[in-house]
Amino acid sequence: MILNYKITRTVAALCASILASCATIGSSHSESTPTSDVTVAQSELRHEANGGHAAHRTSLSSHLPTVLGEVHIVAVGDVMMHVDVVQASKNQDNGFGDLWADVIPLFKNADIAFGNLETPVAPESGKKGQPFMFNAPENLPTAMKASGWTVLSTANNHAFDQGAKGVKETVDRLNAAQLITIGTGESKIAAEQTKVLEKNGVKIAFIGFTDIFNIDLDNKATAPWVRRLELDSALAAIKAARQQADAVIVSIHWGDEYHHEPNMRQRQIATALIHGGADVVLGHHPHVLQPAEVIDTIDEAGNRHTGLVIYSLGNFISNQDRMYRADLFPVAAGDSRDEIALQFTLSKVRQPNGSEDMILGEVVYEPLWVENNWNEAHASKDVKRNIHITRIRDAIEKTWQELDQLTDPIEGPKLIVDDKQRRSTILDKQEYLRTLLLRKGRIASIVGSAFEAR
Ligand SMILES: [Zn+2]
Repeated sequence: MILNYKITRTVAALCASILASCATIGSSHSESTPTSDVTVAQSELRHEANGGHAAHRTSLSSHLPTVLGEVHIVAVGDVMMHVDVVQASKNQDNGFGDLWADVIPLFKNADIAFGNLETPVAPESGKKGQPFMFNAPENLPTAMKASGWTVLSTANNHAFDQGAKGVKETVDRLNAAQLITIGTGESKIAAEQTKVLEKNGVKIAFIGFTDIFNIDLDNKATAPWVRRLELDSALAAIKAARQQADAVIVSIHWGDEYHHEPNMRQRQIATALIHGGADVVLGHHPHVLQPAEVIDTIDEAGNRHTGLVIYSLGNFISNQDRMYRADLFPVAAGDSRDEIALQFTLSKVRQPNGSEDMILGEVVYEPLWVENNWNEAHASKDVKRNIHITRIRDAIEKTWQELDQLTDPIEGPKLIVDDKQRRSTILDKQEYLRTLLLRKGRIASIVGSAFEAR
Protein backbone atom coordinates (compact mmCIF):
# COMPACT_ATOMS: atom_id res chain seq x y z
CA MET A 1 0.00 0.00 0.00
CA ILE A 2 1.05 3.58 -0.46
CA LEU A 3 2.44 5.24 2.59
CA ASN A 4 1.68 8.63 1.10
CA TYR A 5 -2.01 8.12 1.65
CA LYS A 6 -1.59 7.94 5.41
CA ILE A 7 -2.01 10.98 7.56
CA THR A 8 -0.95 11.17 11.19
CA ARG A 9 -3.38 11.32 14.07
CA THR A 10 -2.26 14.81 15.01
CA VAL A 11 -3.95 16.02 11.86
CA ALA A 12 -6.89 13.69 12.09
CA ALA A 13 -9.39 16.49 12.33
CA LEU A 14 -8.01 18.06 9.18
CA CYS A 15 -8.02 14.69 7.50
CA ALA A 16 -11.58 13.98 8.52
CA SER A 17 -12.78 17.28 7.25
CA ILE A 18 -11.20 16.77 3.87
CA LEU A 19 -10.97 13.08 3.19
CA ALA A 20 -13.83 10.72 3.78
CA SER A 21 -11.49 7.95 2.71
CA CYS A 22 -8.70 8.51 5.21
CA ALA A 23 -8.68 8.89 8.95
CA THR A 24 -6.66 7.93 11.96
CA ILE A 25 -8.36 5.82 14.55
CA GLY A 26 -8.01 5.02 18.21
CA SER A 27 -5.62 6.79 20.47
CA SER A 28 -4.00 6.51 23.83
CA HIS A 29 -1.70 9.50 23.74
CA SER A 30 -3.71 12.21 22.06
CA GLU A 31 -2.51 15.77 22.32
CA SER A 32 -5.90 17.13 21.44
CA THR A 33 -7.62 19.64 23.64
CA PRO A 34 -11.00 18.43 24.86
CA THR A 35 -13.80 20.48 23.44
CA SER A 36 -16.79 18.34 24.36
CA ASP A 37 -17.67 14.89 25.54
CA VAL A 38 -18.49 13.70 22.09
CA THR A 39 -18.19 15.59 18.88
CA VAL A 40 -19.50 14.01 15.75
CA ALA A 41 -17.33 16.22 13.63
CA GLN A 42 -18.13 14.66 10.29
CA SER A 43 -21.32 12.75 10.35
CA GLU A 44 -22.10 13.47 6.74
CA LEU A 45 -18.82 13.03 4.94
CA ARG A 46 -20.02 12.69 1.39
CA HIS A 47 -17.79 15.10 -0.38
CA GLU A 48 -15.09 15.15 -2.96
CA ALA A 49 -12.50 12.91 -1.32
CA ASN A 50 -10.00 12.53 -4.07
CA GLY A 51 -9.41 16.19 -4.73
CA GLY A 52 -7.65 16.63 -1.40
CA HIS A 53 -5.09 13.87 -1.67
CA ALA A 54 -2.30 15.42 -3.68
CA ALA A 55 -2.00 18.71 -1.86
CA HIS A 56 -1.98 17.14 1.57
CA ARG A 57 0.47 14.43 0.60
CA THR A 58 3.05 17.07 -0.17
CA SER A 59 2.56 19.31 2.82
CA LEU A 60 2.51 16.42 5.30
CA SER A 61 5.34 14.37 3.88
CA SER A 62 7.74 15.25 6.70
CA HIS A 63 5.25 14.07 9.34
CA LEU A 64 4.47 10.67 7.91
CA PRO A 65 4.47 7.73 10.30
CA THR A 66 6.24 4.42 9.68
CA VAL A 67 3.88 1.61 8.75
CA LEU A 68 4.50 -1.46 10.93
CA GLY A 69 1.76 -3.61 9.40
CA GLU A 70 -1.39 -3.31 7.30
CA VAL A 71 -4.56 -5.33 7.08
CA HIS A 72 -6.96 -5.09 4.14
CA ILE A 73 -10.55 -5.92 4.98
CA VAL A 74 -13.60 -6.41 2.79
CA ALA A 75 -17.12 -6.51 4.19
CA VAL A 76 -20.40 -7.54 2.60
CA GLY A 77 -23.95 -7.77 3.94
CA ASP A 78 -26.59 -10.40 4.45
CA VAL A 79 -26.19 -13.86 2.97
CA MET A 80 -29.86 -14.83 2.68
CA MET A 81 -30.83 -18.41 1.96
CA HIS A 82 -34.16 -17.96 0.23
CA VAL A 83 -35.47 -21.11 -1.45
CA ASP A 84 -34.65 -19.71 -4.90
CA VAL A 85 -31.08 -18.92 -3.86
CA VAL A 86 -30.57 -22.55 -2.83
CA GLN A 87 -32.24 -23.72 -6.05
CA ALA A 88 -30.03 -21.41 -8.14
CA SER A 89 -26.95 -22.91 -6.46
CA LYS A 90 -28.12 -26.39 -7.44
CA ASN A 91 -28.40 -25.29 -11.07
CA GLN A 92 -24.73 -24.30 -11.21
CA ASP A 93 -21.71 -26.50 -11.88
CA ASN A 94 -19.91 -25.25 -8.78
CA GLY A 95 -22.86 -24.66 -6.49
CA PHE A 96 -22.97 -21.55 -4.32
CA GLY A 97 -19.54 -20.34 -5.42
CA ASP A 98 -20.88 -19.74 -8.93
CA LEU A 99 -23.55 -17.35 -7.63
CA TRP A 100 -20.89 -14.92 -6.40
CA ALA A 101 -17.93 -16.04 -8.53
CA ASP A 102 -17.21 -12.49 -9.75
CA VAL A 103 -16.75 -11.25 -6.19
CA ILE A 104 -14.42 -14.03 -5.03
CA PRO A 105 -11.26 -12.15 -6.13
CA LEU A 106 -12.26 -9.28 -3.82
CA PHE A 107 -12.47 -11.71 -0.89
CA LYS A 108 -9.27 -13.51 -1.76
CA ASN A 109 -7.28 -10.33 -2.27
CA ALA A 110 -8.24 -9.14 1.20
CA ASP A 111 -6.62 -10.29 4.44
CA ILE A 112 -10.01 -10.59 6.10
CA ALA A 113 -13.43 -10.98 4.42
CA PHE A 114 -16.51 -10.37 6.55
CA GLY A 115 -20.19 -11.14 5.96
CA ASN A 116 -23.43 -11.67 7.88
CA LEU A 117 -24.76 -15.20 7.55
CA GLU A 118 -28.50 -14.77 7.98
CA THR A 119 -29.40 -18.43 8.32
CA PRO A 120 -28.71 -21.44 10.45
CA VAL A 121 -26.84 -24.31 8.83
CA ALA A 122 -28.51 -27.09 10.78
CA PRO A 123 -29.56 -30.01 8.58
CA GLU A 124 -29.35 -32.41 11.53
CA SER A 125 -31.11 -30.51 14.30
CA GLY A 126 -33.49 -28.42 12.21
CA LYS A 127 -36.17 -28.67 9.56
CA LYS A 128 -35.93 -27.91 5.87
CA GLY A 129 -35.67 -24.20 5.18
CA GLN A 130 -38.87 -22.35 4.30
CA PRO A 131 -39.87 -18.72 3.85
CA PHE A 132 -38.94 -16.72 6.97
CA MET A 133 -37.53 -19.82 8.70
CA PHE A 134 -34.21 -20.44 7.06
CA ASN A 135 -31.96 -23.47 7.07
CA ALA A 136 -29.04 -23.62 4.67
CA PRO A 137 -27.76 -26.82 3.09
CA GLU A 138 -24.68 -28.41 4.59
CA ASN A 139 -22.45 -27.50 1.64
CA LEU A 140 -22.75 -23.75 2.34
CA PRO A 141 -19.91 -23.43 4.94
CA THR A 142 -17.27 -25.07 2.74
CA ALA A 143 -18.47 -23.03 -0.26
CA MET A 144 -18.12 -19.81 1.76
CA LYS A 145 -14.69 -20.81 3.03
CA ALA A 146 -13.55 -21.69 -0.50
CA SER A 147 -14.87 -18.32 -1.72
CA GLY A 148 -12.60 -16.50 0.72
CA TRP A 149 -14.79 -15.43 3.64
CA THR A 150 -12.93 -15.32 6.97
CA VAL A 151 -15.29 -13.95 9.63
CA LEU A 152 -19.06 -14.39 9.73
CA SER A 153 -21.57 -12.71 11.97
CA THR A 154 -24.12 -15.32 12.99
CA ALA A 155 -25.96 -13.03 15.43
CA ASN A 156 -29.12 -11.93 13.63
CA ASN A 157 -32.90 -12.25 13.74
CA HIS A 158 -32.80 -15.64 12.00
CA ALA A 159 -30.19 -17.18 14.33
CA PHE A 160 -32.81 -19.16 16.29
CA ASP A 161 -34.81 -20.23 13.20
CA GLN A 162 -33.83 -23.85 13.88
CA GLY A 163 -33.96 -23.60 17.65
CA ALA A 164 -31.17 -23.51 20.20
CA LYS A 165 -29.68 -26.72 18.86
CA GLY A 166 -29.56 -25.12 15.43
CA VAL A 167 -27.40 -22.30 16.81
CA LYS A 168 -24.82 -24.77 18.09
CA GLU A 169 -24.90 -26.93 14.96
CA THR A 170 -24.41 -23.83 12.79
CA VAL A 171 -21.39 -22.63 14.74
CA ASP A 172 -19.92 -26.15 14.80
CA ARG A 173 -20.31 -26.54 11.05
CA LEU A 174 -18.87 -23.11 10.26
CA ASN A 175 -15.95 -23.60 12.62
CA ALA A 176 -15.32 -27.05 11.12
CA ALA A 177 -15.02 -25.28 7.76
CA GLN A 178 -12.47 -22.97 9.44
CA LEU A 179 -14.72 -19.95 9.38
CA ILE A 180 -14.65 -17.65 12.40
CA THR A 181 -18.06 -16.86 13.88
CA ILE A 182 -19.05 -13.97 16.10
CA GLY A 183 -22.11 -13.28 18.22
CA THR A 184 -23.45 -16.80 18.75
CA GLY A 185 -22.16 -19.91 20.50
CA GLU A 186 -22.93 -23.02 22.45
CA SER A 187 -23.24 -20.90 25.63
CA LYS A 188 -23.45 -17.25 26.65
CA ILE A 189 -19.71 -17.18 27.28
CA ALA A 190 -18.99 -18.67 23.86
CA ALA A 191 -21.34 -16.22 22.10
CA GLU A 192 -19.71 -13.27 23.84
CA GLN A 193 -16.18 -14.28 23.03
CA THR A 194 -14.13 -11.68 21.18
CA LYS A 195 -12.29 -13.22 18.24
CA VAL A 196 -8.84 -11.83 17.53
CA LEU A 197 -7.18 -12.37 14.17
CA GLU A 198 -3.55 -11.54 13.60
CA LYS A 199 -2.64 -10.61 10.04
CA ASN A 200 0.58 -8.99 8.87
CA GLY A 201 1.58 -8.26 12.45
CA VAL A 202 -1.69 -6.47 13.26
CA LYS A 203 -4.24 -7.88 15.70
CA ILE A 204 -7.87 -7.21 14.80
CA ALA A 205 -10.65 -8.00 17.28
CA PHE A 206 -14.18 -8.86 16.11
CA ILE A 207 -17.27 -8.63 18.32
CA GLY A 208 -20.81 -9.44 17.11
CA PHE A 209 -24.30 -8.40 18.25
CA THR A 210 -27.88 -8.43 17.09
CA ASP A 211 -30.42 -5.79 18.04
CA ILE A 212 -33.25 -7.80 16.47
CA PHE A 213 -34.69 -11.24 17.23
CA ASN A 214 -37.53 -13.06 15.45
CA ILE A 215 -37.32 -15.80 18.08
CA ASP A 216 -35.44 -15.23 21.33
CA LEU A 217 -34.36 -18.38 23.15
CA ASP A 218 -31.71 -16.68 25.30
CA ASN A 219 -32.88 -17.96 28.66
CA LYS A 220 -30.12 -20.16 30.03
CA ALA A 221 -26.49 -19.03 29.99
CA THR A 222 -25.21 -22.58 29.57
CA ALA A 223 -27.45 -23.20 26.52
CA PRO A 224 -26.79 -21.96 22.95
CA TRP A 225 -26.86 -18.18 22.94
CA VAL A 226 -27.24 -15.25 20.55
CA ARG A 227 -25.67 -12.02 21.75
CA ARG A 228 -28.12 -9.15 22.13
CA LEU A 229 -26.91 -5.59 21.62
CA GLU A 230 -26.64 -3.82 24.95
CA LEU A 231 -24.61 -0.65 25.09
CA ASP A 232 -22.89 -1.18 28.45
CA SER A 233 -21.90 -4.72 27.62
CA ALA A 234 -20.71 -3.64 24.17
CA LEU A 235 -18.58 -0.85 25.62
CA ALA A 236 -17.06 -3.23 28.17
CA ALA A 237 -16.30 -5.73 25.40
CA ILE A 238 -14.62 -3.04 23.30
CA LYS A 239 -12.54 -1.87 26.26
CA ALA A 240 -11.40 -5.44 26.96
CA ALA A 241 -10.73 -6.08 23.26
CA ARG A 242 -8.46 -3.06 23.06
CA GLN A 243 -6.22 -4.72 25.64
CA GLN A 244 -5.59 -7.69 23.37
CA ALA A 245 -5.83 -6.21 19.87
CA ASP A 246 -4.62 -3.24 17.85
CA ALA A 247 -8.05 -2.50 16.36
CA VAL A 248 -11.64 -3.41 17.19
CA ILE A 249 -14.39 -4.12 14.66
CA VAL A 250 -17.96 -4.38 15.90
CA SER A 251 -20.66 -6.10 13.84
CA ILE A 252 -24.29 -5.22 14.58
CA HIS A 253 -27.52 -6.56 13.09
CA TRP A 254 -29.86 -3.59 13.50
CA GLY A 255 -31.93 -0.85 11.91
CA ASP A 256 -35.28 -0.56 10.17
CA GLU A 257 -35.97 -2.81 7.21
CA TYR A 258 -36.15 -1.03 3.85
CA HIS A 259 -35.12 2.33 5.35
CA HIS A 260 -32.14 4.04 3.76
CA GLU A 261 -31.45 6.32 6.70
CA PRO A 262 -30.15 4.98 10.01
CA ASN A 263 -32.51 5.54 12.91
CA MET A 264 -31.62 7.54 16.00
CA ARG A 265 -30.63 4.43 17.96
CA GLN A 266 -28.20 3.33 15.25
CA ARG A 267 -26.61 6.79 15.17
CA GLN A 268 -26.33 7.05 18.95
CA ILE A 269 -24.94 3.54 19.38
CA ALA A 270 -22.42 3.95 16.54
CA THR A 271 -21.15 7.21 18.02
CA ALA A 272 -21.00 5.75 21.53
CA LEU A 273 -19.09 2.66 20.36
CA ILE A 274 -16.53 4.69 18.42
CA HIS A 275 -16.23 7.05 21.36
CA GLY A 276 -15.69 3.93 23.46
CA GLY A 277 -12.81 2.70 21.31
CA ALA A 278 -14.34 0.80 18.38
CA ASP A 279 -12.54 1.45 15.12
CA VAL A 280 -15.14 0.15 12.70
CA VAL A 281 -18.85 -0.60 13.05
CA LEU A 282 -20.28 -2.92 10.38
CA GLY A 283 -24.08 -2.77 10.25
CA HIS A 284 -26.53 -5.08 8.51
CA HIS A 285 -30.17 -6.19 8.44
CA PRO A 286 -32.33 -3.53 6.66
CA HIS A 287 -32.04 -5.44 3.31
CA VAL A 288 -31.12 -2.13 1.70
CA LEU A 289 -28.05 0.04 1.89
CA GLN A 290 -27.54 2.80 4.43
CA PRO A 291 -24.74 5.41 4.55
CA ALA A 292 -21.10 5.05 5.47
CA GLU A 293 -19.66 7.75 7.72
CA VAL A 294 -16.44 8.63 9.46
CA ILE A 295 -17.24 9.62 13.03
CA ASP A 296 -14.76 11.69 15.00
CA THR A 297 -15.13 11.79 18.79
CA ILE A 298 -13.14 13.23 21.67
CA ASP A 299 -13.41 11.66 25.11
CA GLU A 300 -13.32 13.24 28.56
CA ALA A 301 -9.54 12.86 28.75
CA GLY A 302 -9.10 14.64 25.44
CA ASN A 303 -8.34 11.51 23.44
CA ARG A 304 -9.61 11.54 19.91
CA HIS A 305 -11.31 8.41 18.57
CA THR A 306 -12.13 8.35 14.90
CA GLY A 307 -13.93 5.40 13.40
CA LEU A 308 -15.83 4.20 10.39
CA VAL A 309 -19.45 3.11 10.42
CA ILE A 310 -21.46 1.57 7.63
CA TYR A 311 -25.01 1.54 8.94
CA SER A 312 -26.18 -1.15 6.52
CA LEU A 313 -24.22 -3.18 4.01
CA GLY A 314 -27.43 -4.30 2.28
CA ASN A 315 -28.15 -7.84 1.16
CA PHE A 316 -25.27 -9.84 -0.22
CA ILE A 317 -27.38 -12.52 -1.85
CA SER A 318 -31.15 -12.91 -1.74
CA ASN A 319 -34.21 -13.45 -3.90
CA GLN A 320 -35.71 -10.09 -2.98
CA ASP A 321 -37.03 -7.66 -5.61
CA ARG A 322 -36.79 -10.53 -8.08
CA MET A 323 -39.31 -9.08 -10.57
CA TYR A 324 -37.68 -5.67 -10.77
CA ARG A 325 -36.90 -4.25 -14.19
CA ALA A 326 -35.44 -0.78 -14.42
CA ASP A 327 -37.65 0.24 -17.34
CA LEU A 328 -40.88 -0.92 -15.72
CA PHE A 329 -40.52 -0.18 -12.02
CA PRO A 330 -39.64 2.81 -9.84
CA VAL A 331 -36.00 2.88 -8.80
CA ALA A 332 -36.79 1.94 -5.18
CA ALA A 333 -38.25 -1.38 -6.32
CA GLY A 334 -34.72 -2.64 -6.95
CA ASP A 335 -33.12 -1.47 -3.71
CA SER A 336 -32.84 -4.94 -2.14
CA ARG A 337 -30.60 -5.98 -5.01
CA ASP A 338 -28.15 -3.08 -4.56
CA GLU A 339 -25.11 -3.89 -2.50
CA ILE A 340 -21.49 -3.05 -1.89
CA ALA A 341 -18.20 -4.67 -1.08
CA LEU A 342 -16.80 -2.21 1.47
CA GLN A 343 -13.01 -2.21 1.54
CA PHE A 344 -10.76 -0.54 4.06
CA THR A 345 -7.24 -0.71 5.38
CA LEU A 346 -6.18 -0.70 9.02
CA SER A 347 -2.54 0.21 9.46
CA LYS A 348 -0.43 -0.06 12.57
CA VAL A 349 2.07 2.79 12.51
CA ARG A 350 4.85 4.29 14.56
CA GLN A 351 4.52 8.05 14.78
CA PRO A 352 7.54 10.36 14.44
CA ASN A 353 7.35 10.85 18.25
CA GLY A 354 7.68 7.08 18.81
CA SER A 355 4.08 6.31 19.80
CA GLU A 356 2.09 3.60 18.04
CA ASP A 357 -1.29 4.24 16.44
CA MET A 358 -3.80 2.64 14.15
CA ILE A 359 -4.72 4.42 10.95
CA LEU A 360 -7.84 3.85 8.96
CA GLY A 361 -7.07 4.43 5.33
CA GLU A 362 -8.52 4.03 1.88
CA VAL A 363 -12.16 3.37 2.66
CA VAL A 364 -13.85 2.57 -0.62
CA TYR A 365 -16.76 0.50 -1.81
CA GLU A 366 -17.31 -1.34 -5.02
CA PRO A 367 -20.94 -1.28 -6.20
CA LEU A 368 -22.53 -4.68 -6.75
CA TRP A 369 -25.88 -5.75 -8.18
CA VAL A 370 -27.78 -8.99 -7.78
CA GLU A 371 -28.84 -10.36 -11.16
CA ASN A 372 -32.04 -12.40 -10.92
CA ASN A 373 -33.58 -14.21 -13.90
CA TRP A 374 -37.02 -14.68 -12.31
CA ASN A 375 -38.79 -13.00 -15.26
CA GLU A 376 -36.98 -15.08 -17.89
CA ALA A 377 -37.38 -18.34 -15.97
CA HIS A 378 -41.11 -17.77 -15.62
CA ALA A 379 -41.45 -16.93 -19.32
CA SER A 380 -39.76 -20.14 -20.47
CA LYS A 381 -39.48 -23.61 -18.96
CA ASP A 382 -36.12 -24.00 -20.66
CA VAL A 383 -34.52 -21.29 -18.52
CA LYS A 384 -33.17 -22.47 -15.17
CA ARG A 385 -33.32 -20.16 -12.18
CA ASN A 386 -30.18 -18.20 -11.62
CA ILE A 387 -29.16 -15.52 -9.16
CA HIS A 388 -25.77 -13.96 -9.65
CA ILE A 389 -23.81 -11.09 -8.19
CA THR A 390 -22.36 -8.66 -10.70
CA ARG A 391 -19.61 -6.11 -10.22
CA ILE A 392 -21.38 -3.10 -11.69
CA ARG A 393 -18.36 -1.24 -13.04
CA ASP A 394 -17.05 -4.27 -14.93
CA ALA A 395 -20.50 -5.02 -16.30
CA ILE A 396 -20.95 -1.44 -17.54
CA GLU A 397 -17.68 -1.58 -19.43
CA LYS A 398 -18.43 -4.97 -20.94
CA THR A 399 -21.93 -3.96 -22.02
CA TRP A 400 -20.68 -0.74 -23.63
CA GLN A 401 -18.18 -2.79 -25.63
CA GLU A 402 -20.85 -5.27 -26.70
CA LEU A 403 -23.15 -2.45 -27.79
CA ASP A 404 -20.35 -0.76 -29.71
CA GLN A 405 -19.76 -3.98 -31.61
CA LEU A 406 -23.42 -4.69 -32.27
CA THR A 407 -24.14 -1.17 -33.47
CA ASP A 408 -21.04 -0.98 -35.66
CA PRO A 409 -22.27 -0.83 -39.31
CA ILE A 410 -19.79 -3.49 -40.43
CA GLU A 411 -19.15 -5.65 -37.35
CA GLY A 412 -22.75 -5.62 -36.09
CA PRO A 413 -24.39 -7.45 -39.02
CA LYS A 414 -21.54 -9.95 -38.98
CA LEU A 415 -22.16 -10.77 -35.32
CA ILE A 416 -25.92 -11.17 -35.70
CA VAL A 417 -27.02 -11.55 -39.32
CA ASP A 418 -30.74 -11.24 -38.74
CA ASP A 419 -31.63 -7.54 -38.39
CA LYS A 420 -34.65 -8.16 -36.23
CA GLN A 421 -32.70 -10.32 -33.85
CA ARG A 422 -29.84 -7.83 -33.74
CA ARG A 423 -32.23 -5.00 -32.92
CA SER A 424 -33.83 -7.02 -30.14
CA THR A 425 -30.42 -7.87 -28.67
CA ILE A 426 -29.35 -4.23 -28.81
CA LEU A 427 -32.53 -3.11 -27.02
CA ASP A 428 -32.01 -5.74 -24.31
CA LYS A 429 -28.42 -4.65 -23.76
CA GLN A 430 -29.44 -1.01 -23.68
CA GLU A 431 -31.98 -1.77 -20.97
CA TYR A 432 -29.34 -3.70 -19.03
CA LEU A 433 -26.92 -0.78 -19.35
CA ARG A 434 -29.57 1.65 -18.14
CA THR A 435 -30.17 -0.66 -15.17
CA LEU A 436 -26.49 -0.76 -14.25
CA LEU A 437 -26.03 2.99 -14.52
CA LEU A 438 -29.20 3.64 -12.52
CA ARG A 439 -28.17 1.23 -9.73
CA LYS A 440 -24.62 2.61 -9.59
CA GLY A 441 -26.01 6.11 -9.10
CA ARG A 442 -28.57 4.89 -6.59
CA ILE A 443 -25.89 3.16 -4.49
CA ALA A 444 -23.65 6.24 -4.52
CA SER A 445 -26.53 8.48 -3.45
CA ILE A 446 -27.25 6.26 -0.45
CA VAL A 447 -23.82 5.08 0.75
CA GLY A 448 -22.00 8.30 -0.12
CA SER A 449 -20.31 8.97 -3.44
CA ALA A 450 -17.07 9.99 -1.69
CA PHE A 451 -16.53 6.34 -0.81
CA GLU A 452 -17.10 4.93 -4.29
CA ALA A 453 -14.02 3.25 -5.74
CA ARG A 454 -12.71 5.05 -8.82
ZN1 LIG B 1 -31.97 -9.58 9.51
